[in-house]
Amino acid sequence: MTPEARDAADPLRHVRERFALLDYLTYLDGNSLGALPKATADAVAKTVSEDWGNGLIRSWNHAGWIDAPARIGAKIAPLIGAQPHEVIAADSTSVNLFKLLTAALQARPGKIVTEPGNFPTDLYIAQGAANLLGRPLVTTDDVLGDIDDDTAVVLLTHVHYKTAAVHDMAAITAAAHRHNALVLWDLSHSAGAIPVDLNGAKADLAVGCGYKYLNGGPGAPAFLFVAERHHDSLHSPLTGWMGHAEPFAFRDDYAPAEGIRRFLCGTPPILGLAALEAGIDIFADLDLGAVFAKSRALTSLFIELIDATDLGFEVVTPRDPARRGSHVSLTHPHAWPICQTAIARGVIGDFRAPDILRFGFTPLYTRFTDVARAVETLADIIQTREYEHPRFQRRAAVT
Ligand SMILES: *Cc1c(COP(=O)(O)O)cnc(C)c1O
Repeated sequence: MTPEARDAADPLRHVRERFALLDYLTYLDGNSLGALPKATADAVAKTVSEDWGNGLIRSWNHAGWIDAPARIGAKIAPLIGAQPHEVIAADSTSVNLFKLLTAALQARPGKIVTEPGNFPTDLYIAQGAANLLGRPLVTTDDVLGDIDDDTAVVLLTHVHYKTAAVHDMAAITAAAHRHNALVLWDLSHSAGAIPVDLNGAKADLAVGCGYKYLNGGPGAPAFLFVAERHHDSLHSPLTGWMGHAEPFAFRDDYAPAEGIRRFLCGTPPILGLAALEAGIDIFADLDLGAVFAKSRALTSLFIELIDATDLGFEVVTPRDPARRGSHVSLTHPHAWPICQTAIARGVIGDFRAPDILRFGFTPLYTRFTDVARAVETLADIIQTREYEHPRFQRRAAVT
């Protein structure tokens, strides 16, 4: 089937119309910043003009502001195999990592186990928490081999941000549980793109990002998951008043809220949450099986078309669709200038040091014709050597 025919047969083809995407743009970076849903501008404008402008302080009760973190968490839950009351939208992924990692360390003696090449913030937060609590941090390529009775918590990113390789959540979680350790999963590159079954895997803890496949907007609030069985025994180290049992009793002494709310810290960012909710609401009436199947079909087509060229790219993403996320990474010695040239031609992917070109295939709005166009553009850039032009060599602050 041609890419055009596959777009025509795609059961999700109309979902793209819910996004404000320019038709000529081939946007393959939704794994870094999701596209803008058309509903977001109105949702944020209503929150600003009506709820804030007219409702003012009354909107905490009347416009559902105070319930927004739990309400939005409950909407994220079905995407990650969680119960509605096990997820809450709050803070950034980095802050949520700190809260849950520290909570886990306080509940279990021993070390943190993670892997080298994990996303930087995950490693940096692990280093900070290990220093703060005086715990060993083991960074190892043999995670399963290094989990032992002295392990407090295993910290891993489910889909690797560079290679898109997927960890076996159920197997690693089971291995940790055999040693009475907890596992904290970072779902930043998983949620909304590939199947995640936290409770099926008996997962303990998870965090994830709101601005990638959930389309919540730049710097959107993140989310966190704590399995119900840990709700009473784990405690947030950031004992802010929004996680108090009775925030509006204004008592002098902290007492944690029941359930997931104890992992809130301060006043929720309502404008950011309004945008995040508009992004997540797109999933409400979609067949998630179709979403995840399309992710695999898009990444498979991209790998197939790249394999059919001879341009010096090496696919570093696993070829088994069940073992990869929704992006594909290629290495090339001239990755940076090739990426810049592709962006100048309207094919937007990104570069990850030192030599990776990364292309994200968000199933909600990426077309099969986008995949074909990206490969044709890359081929032309390399064959014409356009990437050698000096203007494509300069490095920008954000890659
Ligand atoms: C994107 C991403 C983050 C982002 O963290 P922020 O606090 O939002 O900057 C964290 N971890 C992983 C694995 C990511 O991919």
